[in-house]
Amino acid sequence: MPILIRNGTIVTACDTYVADVLCEGEVIVAIGRQLPASDHTQVIDATGKYVFPGFIDPHVHIYLPFMGTFAKDTYETASRAALLGGTTTIIEMCCPSRNEDPLMALDLWMSQAAGISACDYTFHMAVSRFDDTTESALRQIVDRGIASFKVFLAYKDFFGVNDSELFKTLQLAKELGVIVTAHCENETLVAELQAKLLAEGKTEPRWHEPSRPIQVETSGVKHLMTFAELTGAHVYVVHTSCHQAVEAAALARRRGVDVWVETVIPYLVLDDTYAQRLDFEGAKFVMSPPIRNRVHQEHLWNAIQTDEIHTVATDHAPFDFHGQKEMGLNDFTKIPNGIPTIQHRVDLLYSYGVRIGRIDLCKMVDCASTQAAKLFGLFPRKGTIAVGSDADIVIYDPNYPHHISAATHAMATDYSAFEGWPLEGRSDTVLVRGKVQVQDGQFVGTLGHGQFLRRQPTHF
Ligand SMILES: [Zn+2]
Repeated sequence: MPILIRNGTIVTACDTYVADVLCEGEVIVAIGRQLPASDHTQVIDATGKYVFPGFIDPHVHIYLPFMGTFAKDTYETASRAALLGGTTTIIEMCCPSRNEDPLMALDLWMSQAAGISACDYTFHMAVSRFDDTTESALRQIVDRGIASFKVFLAYKDFFGVNDSELFKTLQLAKELGVIVTAHCENETLVAELQAKLLAEGKTEPRWHEPSRPIQVETSGVKHLMTFAELTGAHVYVVHTSCHQAVEAAALARRRGVDVWVETVIPYLVLDDTYAQRLDFEGAKFVMSPPIRNRVHQEHLWNAIQTDEIHTVATDHAPFDFHGQKEMGLNDFTKIPNGIPTIQHRVDLLYSYGVRIGRIDLCKMVDCASTQAAKLFGLFPRKGTIAVGSDADIVIYDPNYPHHISAATHAMATDYSAFEGWPLEGRSDTVLVRGKVQVQDGQFVGTLGHGQFLRRQPTHF
């Protein structure tokens, strides 16, 4: 049945205007004023609401064996939570460890999503080892529609690559036109600082940040910039947390390095005092790089508005407080890293960004949808409202006060890092390729409607 979204305020990365949107099959077929509806057209009145392109989260973890446990969500819980928060496409990190076969890993990660996901999905392929076997596997993986890699400069014994492997990965990526996303922290410094702090009896969650200070992250970014400059590869710094790391990337950009910068929602709204909470409460806020001093927040928001930060993702990595975060009760280095956020990125960006004037509406669409589509080979199919684009649409009520709570969220974790936080708006209706998956803020859709998105390399 065709769907006509009437009289909403359409917001793209560059325009805001009132018009109707007609969806037929899986795509948008017309945009205009007072479009006619036939008898069998479903009409949705969007008067007073925003009509956004489906949001894209370019950095999530769902299936994740990590630090001796598994992340809590499945594609059933995570994709439902994503849609309730207006995110219609997710890009998950496929993260095999060093001794796993990349092709088998991709099959394993795909099998977690296929037939289950309620939203569309694709993967960044982590390169956790580079030799002749993995090189040929990576070529096949790109042929299968995975047009981006991930490298870890941290977690060396588990996911991380050494410098020689990093160089070869970037060379291959350059040859294939694949963008390389990178976790930038200096692993050696992290290990030394962790050992020093633990030896001093500093075991609580509050010591996580001092074990991975801004210098450690900035050093990682500069290291990647050198390798990107020498190989000509296109690189994307994931989860940038602080002023200095953004500056390191911006400086490299000015001398011609093809670098793109992501931040994630926790860094924009939380600060280091959360991880300093007593009685192990701080463990709820442990992720890497760590959440920084409040002074960095304003810089990060400004960097979004001035295009030094291009995307806002989540780095959704869901672990329960009880039983999982508690693995680090006596040693902060054993707290599984991650904050569950897949559901609340858009609402937090809207309430704590747009509503208080830190970014404008077009910038919100740009950093939470359009840029990710362009960088990762999904544009213009995804990331905008245009004739011919997929009918991934969020009808957003900007005046719907509600609160975040673990008691009501759709993620599988037993806590929320934003418990009790007030929000100003919500995603009322969410379409994925022309199908209503969320209505009146409730999931009414079909699990398994989500499709794997094949992507072509775009960066030559
Ligand atoms: Zn991550």
